Amino acid sequence: MTLDVSLIPMLQDNYGHLIVEPETGTVGVVDPPEAPPVLAALAERGLGLDWILITHHHGDHIGGIPGLTAATGARVVGPRADQARVPGLTFALGDGERFAFGATSAVVMDVPGHTRGHIAFWFDRDQAVFAGDTLFSLGCGRMFEGTPQQMWHSLARLRALPGETRMFCAHEYTASNGRFAATIEPDNADLRQRLRDVADLRAAGQPTLPTTIAQECRTNPFLRVDVPAVAAAVGTQASDPVATFAALRRAKDGFKG
Ligand code: ZN
Ligand code: FE
Repeated sequence: MTLDVSLIPMLQDNYGHLIVEPETGTVGVVDPPEAPPVLAALAERGLGLDWILITHHHGDHIGGIPGLTAATGARVVGPRADQARVPGLTFALGDGERFAFGATSAVVMDVPGHTRGHIAFWFDRDQAVFAGDTLFSLGCGRMFEGTPQQMWHSLARLRALPGETRMFCAHEYTASNGRFAATIEPDNADLRQRLRDVADLRAAGQPTLPTTIAQECRTNPFLRVDVPAVAAAVGTQASDPVATFAALRRAKDGFKG
């Protein structure tokens, strides 16, 4: 039985993710920016809350911790590297460690760059990864605390997950990321198809997530920095993925679209 995942839209463009392991009924929420919408989703389904999973310390990912722990007694698991910056953390994990979640488990991956303590939760048996603000659909997080070298290394590790892995990220940025991606690879047929699908989904008020690692490998310029057309678009060599990544990230930071 595979992990059940529901998106909870919060704030402007955040997603918290309600996760239920069906065999044991273990319930978690990933990166809740606030408590009330999560409590409403739990009440609607008659669920308690066992775990709050945190990818990094930013306010729009941890804001729900006090309200949720007070209301449910849930424990909080998050990055060991950032223990001091996640108030209420009860269980800290680092790279390669397994987090047991009911009958399943997640491998913790250190993916620094957006922040220095950012982790991802990879539920390998359930083919799902929670990437926080490291990888977005058609984009990636800003480098607030890392170098291009670090951020590219983190993205390359996510890219190397099995293609069928469902990728859940913490923001609905796909349409605006897509406008930038289209300037980098205007002739990428998979990207053009994805942009049409994204436009249809947004017009219908639907999320564009999850995506899959395979789909991102075909369409996300930040996972394609070793593709000659992507490097050429930012004036670098495909043989130097770090320089290409750095140039691409700079171009995106300055992109008004
Ligand atoms: Zn963030
Ligand atoms: Fe965020």
